[in-house]
Amino acid sequence: MQQLIDPFARAISYLRVSVTDRCDFRCTYCMSEHMTFLPKADLLSLEELDRLCTTFVRLGVQKLRITGGEPLVRKGILTFFEAMSRHLQTGALKELTLTTNGSQLAKFAQPLADLGVRRINVSLDTLDPKKFQDITRWGRLPQVLDGIEAARAAGLRVKINAVALKGFNENELFPLLDWCAANDHDLTFIEVMPMGEDMSPLRLDQYWPLKDLRARLAERFTLTDLAERTGGPARYVRIEETGQKVGFITPLTHNFCESCNRVRLTCTGELYMCLGQEDMADLRAPLRASPDDAVLEQAIRAAIARKPKGHDFDYSRQKVAGQMTRHMSHTGG
Ligand code: SAM
Repeated sequence: MQQLIDPFARAISYLRVSVTDRCDFRCTYCMSEHMTFLPKADLLSLEELDRLCTTFVRLGVQKLRITGGEPLVRKGILTFFEAMSRHLQTGALKELTLTTNGSQLAKFAQPLADLGVRRINVSLDTLDPKKFQDITRWGRLPQVLDGIEAARAAGLRVKINAVALKGFNENELFPLLDWCAANDHDLTFIEVMPMGEDMSPLRLDQYWPLKDLRARLAERFTLTDLAERTGGPARYVRIEETGQKVGFITPLTHNFCESCNRVRLTCTGELYMCLGQEDMADLRAPLRASPDDAVLEQAIRAAIARKPKGHDFDYSRQKVAGQMTRHMSHTGG
């Protein structure tokens, strides 16, 4: 089977899959309080997701990240993880992982570990219960902390992803860092993206550029840039004094397009070839049109042949911001 290679000789080995647009939280920077979700018929069934992901694995995808919405609120989600774990067993898939808000981890951490998940990303912006409730609207901090503890007990490595918000978690920079060090969690900060038109606008004074956050860290610690790359928009530093590794994700920066190995699939079967461009391919139609995987494969290859060299957000930040928000809630950030 010929591997997926895009026109710029990049092998596509990383697929990020959103399994639902629904979430049990309503983070203010991500969703409005009253969301209209997609009709069920538009969503790929778990069997369809299995068929699609299996096809990608056959074409050389080695890393699958499951996201949402909140992936663990999708009914029957363990069935899907179980289906994907067979690719871990054959060795075709090197990593099966997920990004979660942690609310359901107390229930799912052990079964996920049993199915071969080794590392997870948990989104957590604050350790203050009141602020947590304010930012997530519907979330409760103790539930998430219990979930994280369950993950640790199950042997899962946890990376905390915190959206940096000025005036919100600015004063928690060091407490968050200390908490992660004490619990042996990795930590990555995400630069907040401005809201789309249909969401309550992010207050401009909440925008906290990660270069400012980094400068704040550097006032107290010695930071060493690490060469480590994931093919995504993250950069890592090591804090020499503690040995901790801290990541920075600046979604609007086109740092690493040249090494981009990833594509994203929405819960309705749209494949986005680039984080920052609107072009997408509908894979649901070929998936549903024929039980023959050759049709689907052809559609995937045609899509990958359109993967752009990169993106540059700077020239139309506003337009892209709206689009990014849609990506976030449908494809999981
Ligand atoms: N529900 C899961 C979770 O909370 O991790 C997965 C989906 S969530 C959309 C994925 C990530 O996107 C989370 O870390 C979330 O904080 C981040 N995110 C959502 N909206 C964002 C925005 N406007 N700017 C930056 N990050 C955002």
